[in-house]
Amino acid sequence: MPNRKQIKNKDIAVTGQYLGVIEEYISNEQSTYVKEGQIFATKTGMISIDDKKRQIEIETHQEKDRKTVKIGDIVIGTVVFLRKFSIGITFNTINQKIHFNSSYFGNTHVSQISNKYIDKINDAFQITDIIRAKVTKKSANEYTLSTVGKNFGVIHADCSICGTELNKIGYDKLKCDFCGNIEKRKLALDYGDVAHNLRF
Ligand SMILES: [Zn+2]
Repeated sequence: MPNRKQIKNKDIAVTGQYLGVIEEYISNEQSTYVKEGQIFATKTGMISIDDKKRQIEIETHQEKDRKTVKIGDIVIGTVVFLRKFSIGITFNTINQKIHFNSSYFGNTHVSQISNKYIDKINDAFQITDIIRAKVTKKSANEYTLSTVGKNFGVIHADCSICGTELNKIGYDKLKCDFCGNIEKRKLALDYGDVAHNLRF
């Protein structure tokens, strides 16, 4: 049986997810389908409900924005690898719009992490961290990113030992309340306070 949890505007829906019934919503043919009076998503994206028309659709923004990432844009992405002097990031959101299966890919060099000197890259980031960064350079589908500045850096991180979400306990320190592990990061000022939809 599909998941019957109540959906809200701007929630994330995955392909095949139950959205509601035809008595509640008018289904959008481009992004939903109806089976036995129930509406399901045909793609993954953000749920958009038009309250007046009761119309429901799934938005991705992906195609439109693919051509429009610019220098100075703000991206939120997941760290997928660490090298000695750089990290690789896949983009989750670009200028607050959610991208799925994004082919965008960014690099941050150790010199563009912080105003403070960073000795080892893993004092600033770990794989699976979610970070906010600014696009500083562009070549084909790869971007150079900077996390210098108080608004940029890690916005979500899990304990590297047990996987629990880490809590901020200092300017560049995080603690796991479950296992007591303490880790270092280049944190954004609003670490731990970012809407789930944006860091998805
Ligand atoms: Zn832990």
